Amino acid sequence: MTDALAMIVDKPGGRLQMQPRAIPEPTGQEVRLRVHACGVCHSDSLTVEGHMPGLAYPRVPGHEVIGTIEAIGPQVRGWKPGERVGVGWSPGACSYCGHCRHGDAFACENIRGATGVTRDGGYATHMLAHASALARVPAELDAVESAPLLCAGITTFNALRHCGAGPGDLVAVHGIGGLGHLGIQFAAHQGFRTVAVNRGRDKESLARSLGATDYIDSDKQDPAAALQALGGARAIIATVTNKEAMQSIVGGLGINGTMMVIGAVGAFSIDSMALLVRRAAVRGWYSGTSVDSEDTLRFSQRHKIACMNEIYPLEEAQAAYERMMSGKARFRVVLKMPA
Ligand SMILES: [Zn+2]
Ligand SMILES: [Zn+2]
Repeated sequence: MTDALAMIVDKPGGRLQMQPRAIPEPTGQEVRLRVHACGVCHSDSLTVEGHMPGLAYPRVPGHEVIGTIEAIGPQVRGWKPGERVGVGWSPGACSYCGHCRHGDAFACENIRGATGVTRDGGYATHMLAHASALARVPAELDAVESAPLLCAGITTFNALRHCGAGPGDLVAVHGIGGLGHLGIQFAAHQGFRTVAVNRGRDKESLARSLGATDYIDSDKQDPAAALQALGGARAIIATVTNKEAMQSIVGGLGINGTMMVIGAVGAFSIDSMALLVRRAAVRGWYSGTSVDSEDTLRFSQRHKIACMNEIYPLEEAQAAYERMMSGKARFRVVLKMPA
């Protein structure tokens, strides 16, 4: 039976092409989703360009998936067909390894890798997922609009709620793109004094409409000095994808401030004095697990936090991917599956 369609990459650097497939049957602890929408994320380039060694091809990218459970494997407990669910970067967790038992399921020792990278993802009409990777999706949320909350959303939401800042503290969101435009909304709704930092003034009015009370143009001002002039940041959510931009803002941390690095920029340098005299820290943050996704979705629904998206049909995944990679999309790109 070939009633499923998937957009596959057949080799590193290959183009996305449509492949008819048999509808997959879930085994063990897996479920099968009928996919409604899947966001297109910069991390999909790991699969498409083959930046990660040892990947198996062909592969279906996509880790911002919303769908409905169609069938469940014989060992699945707690989920049933008809439930609407999301799947993000995390491919699930075993619940019995040391990391899982210490509450660090994101680093599960048994279920490793990532959705759409080491196992097939959501650029498809159907997809298998481990039941532990599922997040419940509130009925009020639209699948296409909400799909990016499973990666861009959870990453910023979760970094913010673990950044150490409290209500009223000054939190800077550096970069107003796919991550940053969500980060500003989450920061404002989590009760922080939210400062948006970006190059130029183009996105200032948008940033303010999303909840930023202050704006720093990093072309005109040294962002570190500008943050110090405001008292120093209790946290900086660093979403930028450029290492010079990343290192230019570390000096804006205030006393006990933490910079949460969620943009991958490779190596960058830090002035140790800027950290030690303020007891400040630079910390990496992994997006989160399925229950973090569920919290993100519920918080977004309750506070009417929305992602700005450009929508493409599944079969135009290559164009959608190129649009996302161009950096020009406002702000996320989402694939909509045929009904
Ligand atoms: Zn992503
Ligand atoms: Zn585990």
